[in-house]
Amino acid sequence: QAKTEGRNAIRFYDPEMQAAIEARADIEDELRQALDKQQFRLHYQIQVDSLGRPLGAEVLLRWEHPVRGLVSPAQFIPLAEDTGLIVPIGLWVLQTACAQLKAWQQDAMTRDLTLAVNVSAGQFRQPDFVAQVQSVLLESGAKPSLLKLELTESMVLKNVEDTITKMREIKLLGVSFSMDDFGTGYSSLQYLKRLPLDQIKIDQSFVRDVTSDPNDAAIVQTIIAMTQALGLNVIAEGVETAAQRDFLDKHGCHAFQGYLFSKPVPLEQFAASLR
Ligand code: C2E
Ligand code: MG
Ligand code: MG
Ligand code: MG
Repeated sequence: QAKTEGRNAIRFYDPEMQAAIEARADIEDELRQALDKQQFRLHYQIQVDSLGRPLGAEVLLRWEHPVRGLVSPAQFIPLAEDTGLIVPIGLWVLQTACAQLKAWQQDAMTRDLTLAVNVSAGQFRQPDFVAQVQSVLLESGAKPSLLKLELTESMVLKNVEDTITKMREIKLLGVSFSMDDFGTGYSSLQYLKRLPLDQIKIDQSFVRDVTSDPNDAAIVQTIIAMTQALGLNVIAEGVETAAQRDFLDKHGCHAFQGYLFSKPVPLEQFAASLR
């Protein structure tokens, strides 16, 4: 009988769906204000060499929500991507990381530390992304060679030509690139060969069972061999045990990141751990 009442008569009302839509709208509003309200924090997770010496850190974003507490990026980065908020948020991350690099450059103990910054697809696809990186470097006075941008396979593959052009331009500034979560995407070796990468980051899903699962062990060894053949640097993420570290080290991966060394921590704690 909906037909007789006209098309406006067809109504869907699902209270649960309605509640979910409203909750999302609320979070979106809050996320929109989070930058102004200075609710974002950067945590630093150390990266070390075979002897446990610090090489640098990866900066990982946190949202300090007044009610929800510390919100992890998995819970808000997708929404930030969908809404375009990732662009100003990502810029803030880059600015904050570069200011930190500059501060570290003043101290002999910290001046060689690198910082790795995650870049998301929406950010990288900005037509002026290269100019943004350049001006952040200039404004901060950070040494470009100490800044590393982490890309993922899926974002790189969306437009390979544009990606390569942008990467080349950014590399001319002196910045380096790491391929995050390597092995979880779809990148073919054909593309990998063409990308001006400096480093490959072995995904934690392969590291987890590397000492017990022969398949993971084979994959990890293959990734390491491939990086060596291509002249790339390699680092493993998600290293939680000494056995994993030893396996990786023995097979040619000499840079590590994971809970074995430290969880991501606020800056003060990171600085204290260096001393
Ligand atoms: P990712 O870049 O692959 O970062 C590594 C994630 O693994 C981090 O999660 C880190 O806390 C976690 N992790 C490190 N070591 C270990 C370990 O030994 N064991 C286990 N189980 N986990 C470990 P987190 O901080 O929750 O970040 C999740 C993801 O969110 C990141 O994955 C990255 O894709 C994204 N993300 C974080 N910060 C930013 C940012 O500033 N911008 C963008 N675009 N994405 C970010
Ligand atoms: Mg990363
Ligand atoms: Mg990763
Ligand atoms: Mg990951």
